[in-house]
Amino acid sequence: MSDLGPNFSSRPVLRINLKAIKANYKAIQSLVGKTTHVAAAVKADAYGLGAERVGRTLYGAGCRNFFVATAGEGKILRGSIGDNASIYVLNGPAPRDLTLYFGSNLKPVINSLVQARIWAEAASAAKHPPYSAIHIDTGINRLGFPMDELERLSKNKNLQEQLQFDLIMSHLACAPDKDNPANAAQLKAFRMAAAKLPLKPMSLTNTAGTYLGKPYHFQMVRPGIGLYGGISTTDPSQEKITPAVSLMAPVLQVKTLKAGESLGYNATFTATKDTKIAIVGAGYADGIPISASSNSDGYFGHATLQNKRAPILGRVSMDLTALDITHLKKTPRIGDWAEFLGGNLEEDAKSCQTLNYEMLTRLSSRARREYL
Ligand SMILES: *Cc1c(COP(=O)(O)O)cnc(C)c1O
Repeated sequence: MSDLGPNFSSRPVLRINLKAIKANYKAIQSLVGKTTHVAAAVKADAYGLGAERVGRTLYGAGCRNFFVATAGEGKILRGSIGDNASIYVLNGPAPRDLTLYFGSNLKPVINSLVQARIWAEAASAAKHPPYSAIHIDTGINRLGFPMDELERLSKNKNLQEQLQFDLIMSHLACAPDKDNPANAAQLKAFRMAAAKLPLKPMSLTNTAGTYLGKPYHFQMVRPGIGLYGGISTTDPSQEKITPAVSLMAPVLQVKTLKAGESLGYNATFTATKDTKIAIVGAGYADGIPISASSNSDGYFGHATLQNKRAPILGRVSMDLTALDITHLKKTPRIGDWAEFLGGNLEEDAKSCQTLNYEMLTRLSSRARREYL
């Protein structure tokens, strides 16, 4: 086609707005005030957005404390942000990862007595500074010291000295649900646990917890999803968070289904009237959930084309998705962009029966990253 410029590529593009990420960091910083540090959760490659670029952006916004899940993630981040920030590894030390901790100056989050011993012995044998964080389980029953182990640790001054905790943290289970009594119960449990091991900074909240109010902030908050434009609470002040991620899929072909014709694998959609469709170049291999497919209950996921919703028709396939464009004024041209996620991240997640978190972390490396 003659209107295809030389820059047309069938590869999808993941547009990541670093300015929005920076603005979201600042919005959370102004919410918590100057006396509380805003750390950043950049695990899972910064929720799929690229830990190196995102890490550097947050560092530039003033962030000096980062959380990753594994030591390998920590190594990549360290290479990008330099030496002047703490990188905590949430899943804790494991023997095979120790050289990564030493080589990239990572701090493990110690979640149990077993992890405490692994780290104390390894750091001492390597003559490595043993700085680490302690994570108390205050009710989520995921990782973290249970109360009986905390009791034992609190009596073992020697082990505490070997671990040099420079942060005490816990994690809320029900933070998006403001009225859930579990929040206050965990807050109280965290205070009581921290009294056994008095040290600062203390840190309790993720993004949603940060909107529960001042008593939850302590000296450090640890947002992730909010930095990336995800809304995780119904708190109206979260409206200040700016969307930061769009998956752009190029229109590859436009055609019209006649009434009675069906579309895609297993012919799950049959047109009841003449229907104009655009086939766009992104599918479940790019992170569009197959649950975004339309089914007999109606439309599920959708993209945005010409500022209008373009519902997904039929089954999302590996590399392609069909969009209903019958209602658009102009027929899209080949190479025009259909936008997934963006300002519709939460709505998309809901219609796909998943979370904004999963929508982001399932984004694959096939899309070219474009940082704005
Ligand atoms: C992922 C994570 C966070 C960040 O959570 P968001 O809900 O994305 O803000 C904070 N703390 C811990 C322990 C985490 O695992």
